Amino acid sequence: MRDAFIPGVNIGLVGHVDHGKTTLVSALTGTWTDRHSEEIKRGISIRLGYADTTFYRCENCEGADAYTSQPECLSCGEKAVPFRTVSFVDAPGHETLMATMLSGSALMDGAMLVIAANEVCPQPQTKEHLMALELIGIKRIVIVQNKIDVVTQAEALEHYKQIKRFVKGTIAENAPIIPVSAQKGVNIGALIQTLDEVIPEPERDPEVDPLLLIARSFDVNKPGCSWRDVKGGVIGGSLIRGVLREGDDIEIRPGRQVQIENRTKWESIETKITSINAGRIGVTEAAPGGLLGVATKLDPALTKSDALAGQVAGLAGKLPPVWERLKFDVTLMDRVVGADSEQIIEPLKHKEPLMLSVGTAVTVGVIVNTKKNQVEVQLKRAVCAEVGARIAISRQVGGRWRLIGMGVLVE
Ligand code: GDP
Ligand code: MG
Repeated sequence: MRDAFIPGVNIGLVGHVDHGKTTLVSALTGTWTDRHSEEIKRGISIRLGYADTTFYRCENCEGADAYTSQPECLSCGEKAVPFRTVSFVDAPGHETLMATMLSGSALMDGAMLVIAANEVCPQPQTKEHLMALELIGIKRIVIVQNKIDVVTQAEALEHYKQIKRFVKGTIAENAPIIPVSAQKGVNIGALIQTLDEVIPEPERDPEVDPLLLIARSFDVNKPGCSWRDVKGGVIGGSLIRGVLREGDDIEIRPGRQVQIENRTKWESIETKITSINAGRIGVTEAAPGGLLGVATKLDPALTKSDALAGQVAGLAGKLPPVWERLKFDVTLMDRVVGADSEQIIEPLKHKEPLMLSVGTAVTVGVIVNTKKNQVEVQLKRAVCAEVGARIAISRQVGGRWRLIGMGVLVE
């Protein structure tokens, strides 16, 4: 059994901008995930936010009343028992930030689709995010009907019916719908109980080769620090399988771009893990679930400002291939969602530019071959992915990248 305080799953927050995702993370964890000055100024999430919380159960209370994210029971005041820790991945809801939402969804074991009760359902990104979950294959979904404090009971019921109509025939058709007020902390116990049921910890195989999807990377040194105190580069991300340990020799792919004669090539980076943080806890080994901070011996210049975001890390020599051209089987949707007008999606065309999301990587490229339901794309930035990987496909529609379908990487 894993330590009850070490996160075991990542739960995504998706949904239209301003529907209360960041507020809900705060209600569940006490952490405000919009940290960057630009986010605070504009009041929207731009990057992926991460926060952990421990779920507690009171042994004296029953049902939803027994669940809290506090060490004391909110119903009876007795001490509650910690039983599980989860991480939340807070995705931006703004329509221009779909790429970030897609790279975050690669890390999600399950998701909360947050829908504000005081707006007609569905709003554009409510639709687009649900479609992304569907395309990426995230089946464990809890729908959160938020802001019930600003609607009447009759309005909440009417809105509930709109949600039911909207999800009919989608992957979320049978997802539970939990009414809450994130801002007032109403019904959070019921939400925790439902999350615990719908998004259990999957069976994990500790023997498989580990694969860490890198979402962030940092230079943790203060400007002007002495060279003697310089700390190596840190990568942040989530393991999607396997175990990484302190002292492991790792490889990062695609790595860095090098110029050899007149060609650019990708050269993987090798280094050693010096320490690992799981959430806020230092650990000697880490398994999937939660954001890991992996400190390495790398030159911090290589990791500063998210330079390695979108790459993958694993044991040296055990990573999937690197592709400068991606060939994949394509499934397109019928219509563009997420925009005001829902245009029909035309087939992919030769030489057309696409934005592809593979794991946490987002890359653009141009179609160089089309054949029935298969295309080949020459990428600007190479990606490391295994055959069979899912690829979210976006195309420019009205000057914006819009999600239009999904691909499966073939050899
Ligand atoms: P996000 O874009 O989905 O992350 O939305 P935010 O969490 O930033 O919230 C957007 C706005 O809605 C903020 O002004 C919040 O204070 C407000 N808000 C969030 N949840 C609730 C709620 O349950 N009730 C009310 N009345 N307002 C809320
Ligand atoms: Mg937000």
